[in-house]
Amino acid sequence: MYMPRNLDVFIYLRKSRKDIEEEKKATEMGTSYDTLQRHRDTLLAVARKENHNIIDIFEEVVSGDSIAERPQIQKLLRKVETGIADAVLVMDIDRLGRGDMLDQGILDRAFRYSGTKIITPTEVYDPESETWELVFGIKSLIAREELKAISKRMQRGRRTSAAEGKSISKKPPYGYLRDENLKLYPDPETAWVVVKIFEMMRDGYGRQAIAAELDRLGVKPPNEKRDFWSPSTITAIVTNEVYMGHIIWGKVRYVKQNGKYVRKKMPPERWYVKENAHEPLVSKELWESANKAYKSRWRPSTVENRSLANPLAGILKCEVCGFTMWYQPRPDRPNDMIRCANPKCKGVQKGALLPLVEERILQSLAEFVDQFEVQEQMMEKRESQSVIPLKQKALEKKEKELKELNVQKSNLHDFLERGIYTVEVFLERQQNIVQRIKQIQEEIEQLKQEIEKEQLKEKNINEYIPTVKKVLEAYRSTDDVEKKNRLLKSVLEKATYLRKPEWKKKDQFVIQLYPKI
Ligand SMILES: [Zn+2]
Repeated sequence: MYMPRNLDVFIYLRKSRKDIEEEKKATEMGTSYDTLQRHRDTLLAVARKENHNIIDIFEEVVSGDSIAERPQIQKLLRKVETGIADAVLVMDIDRLGRGDMLDQGILDRAFRYSGTKIITPTEVYDPESETWELVFGIKSLIAREELKAISKRMQRGRRTSAAEGKSISKKPPYGYLRDENLKLYPDPETAWVVVKIFEMMRDGYGRQAIAAELDRLGVKPPNEKRDFWSPSTITAIVTNEVYMGHIIWGKVRYVKQNGKYVRKKMPPERWYVKENAHEPLVSKELWESANKAYKSRWRPSTVENRSLANPLAGILKCEVCGFTMWYQPRPDRPNDMIRCANPKCKGVQKGALLPLVEERILQSLAEFVDQFEVQEQMMEKRESQSVIPLKQKALEKKEKELKELNVQKSNLHDFLERGIYTVEVFLERQQNIVQRIKQIQEEIEQLKQEIEKEQLKEKNINEYIPTVKKVLEAYRSTDDVEKKNRLLKSVLEKATYLRKPEWKKKDQFVIQLYPKI
């Protein structure tokens, strides 16, 4: 039997009628015992074995089959709906309840929409598995229509909003309208815009070019407060699976950390995807080819005409607002211009002649090479400057700390079993330790990444300088603008540009390079 490990879990305890009878019998025979405590010990042992983090324990003291009669399960379900737990530990499924159809529906959806598993000492029930529908009884299959009706009502409520990371948007996604059943259907006014965005993206236009085209066509952007389309809006649309007809829940979850709920991005394998939920605006093929074009880093952002005229396309960004600098051909003048097209930068950023900016970037790259080579000569050994050993030492220390914390966590169970700790004290101490464990794990991850990055950097800098030299040579000896663009992109992450309005001289501007090391 596969048992998941390292989950955030709730424990739910409840006596059945049979338990109560057994207890009574035992008392009559003079050997009393507490069922809940027995169950608690069993489930705590499971948690210990699988290294789960117990967020809270819910003990139902009243007996009663229906959810309405049981305050603790109501509390539990409200927490489950927020999606903060990975699983609920119970002795067996019946403890949650097998009441009437309505109860089954409530349980079903609370677990299903939040993707929360149910774990017993011997079984794991996963709402994402195909057999889930059987978990709450055959009855729920018969009552499918009724469930659907309830489900729709629920969807309006906090369940979905929590499961969706509160994205059951106040407004339907751009390009769609929503009917009274919350089903999306194409908005005749705007659906074509979405299709156009996808097609332009597929055809190699950059986000800026698409935004400019929509502005030119007089299409209002989705955000009514804005007058112009922004590249980030284009990104949000192109990367949204809703346009293929899918609804996706659970991309983000809210997880309790240090008493506060924080937003946590979930890996795709934990998303809840409802395919073909509504009419798609674009085909799967178009969606995928547009996204491929969007992600491919080598694709220059071209404007209108397909052949690239700006060697700095996709490289030069506005230092003030971060937008890609806009290339402005001037057929009637000797030199083309670059300028920031963001309305916010009007009066803040001044444009400049493209050849001057281009030349400055090449010069700066050459200076970068020179500086490095001088440094290289002055420094006996580069290794003496390396921060890697320091970071590795810190990493070892953290790993040791983590080990100790895990031992402490395990000891807590001993203290509880020996009666040194009450359940309350145990939970509190455990939360405390788990919090520290999670923090240290994050720090370890961070350190590992930093070390890796440093190692790569040290390796790369030795390869980078010769590459830049070659790029500069090749750049000077070609007239092919697309090739020039590719060459620059091979050594630069980006370059930023700043020219204040009061800077009068033609070459008075500041370029900052971001080398791709
Ligand atoms: Zn700008």
